[in-house]
Amino acid sequence: MSATLTAGSGGIPERTDLLVVGLGITGAGVALDAAARGLDVVAVDAFDVAWGTSRFSSKLVHGGLRYLAKGQLAVAHESAVERGRLMEVIAPHLVRALPMVIPLTAEVSGPQAWLARRGVGAGDLLRLLARTRRETLPRPRRISATETRTLAPVVRHDVRGAILSWDGQLEDDARLVLAVARTAASLGARVHTRTRVVELDGHGALLRDELTGEERRIDARAVVNATGVWADQLVDGISLKPSRGTHLVVRKEALPGVRCAVMAPVPGTTNRYVFALPQPDATFYVGLTDEPVTGRVPDVAEPPEEDIEFLLSVLAGALEHPLTRDDVVGAYAGLRPLLSSAGATADLSRRHAVLVSGTGVVTIVGGKLTTYRRMAQDAVDKALAVSGTTAAPCRTARLPLLGAAPREELDRVAAPARLVRRFGTEAPTVVSNALDLGVSLEEALAPVSTTIPVTLAELVFGVTHEGAADVDDLLDRRTRVGLVPSDRPAAEPLAVRALEIARTSG
Ligand SMILES: Cc1cc2nc3c(=O)[nH]c(=O)nc-3n(C[C@H](O)[C@H](O)[C@H](O)COP(=O)(O)OP(=O)(O)OC[C@H]3O[C@@H](n4cnc5c(N)ncnc54)[C@H](O)[C@@H]3O)c2cc1C
Repeated sequence: MSATLTAGSGGIPERTDLLVVGLGITGAGVALDAAARGLDVVAVDAFDVAWGTSRFSSKLVHGGLRYLAKGQLAVAHESAVERGRLMEVIAPHLVRALPMVIPLTAEVSGPQAWLARRGVGAGDLLRLLARTRRETLPRPRRISATETRTLAPVVRHDVRGAILSWDGQLEDDARLVLAVARTAASLGARVHTRTRVVELDGHGALLRDELTGEERRIDARAVVNATGVWADQLVDGISLKPSRGTHLVVRKEALPGVRCAVMAPVPGTTNRYVFALPQPDATFYVGLTDEPVTGRVPDVAEPPEEDIEFLLSVLAGALEHPLTRDDVVGAYAGLRPLLSSAGATADLSRRHAVLVSGTGVVTIVGGKLTTYRRMAQDAVDKALAVSGTTAAPCRTARLPLLGAAPREELDRVAAPARLVRRFGTEAPTVVSNALDLGVSLEEALAPVSTTIPVTLAELVFGVTHEGAADVDDLLDRRTRVGLVPSDRPAAEPLAVRALEIARTSG
């Protein structure tokens, strides 16, 4: 079956077993879960795959330490189990182990350091209980001042050592969503971007094609609303309280020689940190704020100046030479879809909620990228129960995404390393796809510039296989060039060319 995504609502049937609204990580996960159980699935997004919160995360696959600190053992265990599955079976090409250091500077007291050490020790116990291999996530340990400065030469010179621990890091959050959505499509799900749900009930929806303006009705035996921070706009009785998380983007030269995440404690707290996370494409992300947001939810949230100042000032506590505002080449904000209250049908035993509306729409909201698979399983189980539909049991726990393979196999894939990181075993197809469309090998693999490693091959694949319909889809979600606005003009001509190549071929 084709693993291609479609822009616009052309080809959507009049009836389906399950309609999924929203193609963030949650909706993509639901589409995959349902298609893997043998259901007929239609999944739509008003804009694009990974349009919403799912592309503005910290791109970490967490072990659930925060939940442990709050005594929520089951939730913490679930998170650690899902992390292990992602790293070892579901998406080893997209998730890797990230070393993280908490530098023990003069600002970190003895008791704070003791608490941090206890915390990472408990995190390692979670890894063990989740049966994640030691080779996947190495043991946390106290390291010397010399080793700290080797891993992160920019930390304050009076550092007395650091606590080193490991967690999962995504190549890119939007690429995980794309991989899940395409895997769903490979199992028969019809995945359509630019298709807005205008009205919704438990038996179907009114859809609007955002390319043509045409409206049509689709009937469905079951309906799942996975629209994140917009979930309350389609279904009554849901009350959300979004919270904004801002990240900054700085170039790798701003933090020279750093080979790990650097965590700076937020003054006056015991377990809140501002972190600088090294990214695969020569940048760092500095995050993270947590600020309540009121009023209308925007299509894309803007990071305010006070968030930027807060992040720079806290990180400065860990650095010998603080970053300045001029080092910030980009900034982005995401909105957490937090539930403020839940109706009687809510299942709040986890950090995500499955809610059923009066007409039978199942809404899945909350949670995080790391636990998307479990959220999807719970949502599909509920949708089957509500609609009286039978299907095979969930089988995503051991289902590799397209491109996934064990690390040893990935190491042998004959394609440039960057493409293997992003496409796994599909990397050679990404290259041959461009060659088949008349692009020379040299042109297919030439980076946009020395600081922008994006290639024509992956942009063409974005159009032919990943449903990209315009330059923004290519630069903001298939690749993340758009996170640095000054890089955008250099990459735009290549994106335009990719769209032309795909159009003239098809
Ligand atoms: C700043 C920040 C950092 C985070 N970091 C991490 C992290 O490091 N690790 C982690 O595990 N989790 C993290 N999270 C949590 C995680 O990112 C979110 O829980 C998750 O992305 C939410 O995904 P979603 O699919 O539910 O929502 P979204 O990604 O917002 O998707 C909803 C989709 O619904 C679509 N939609 C809306 N209305 C309609 C309509 N009427 N018709 C059709 N489509 C519609 C939207 O276009 C959108 O694409 C972070 C969250 C934030 C805010």
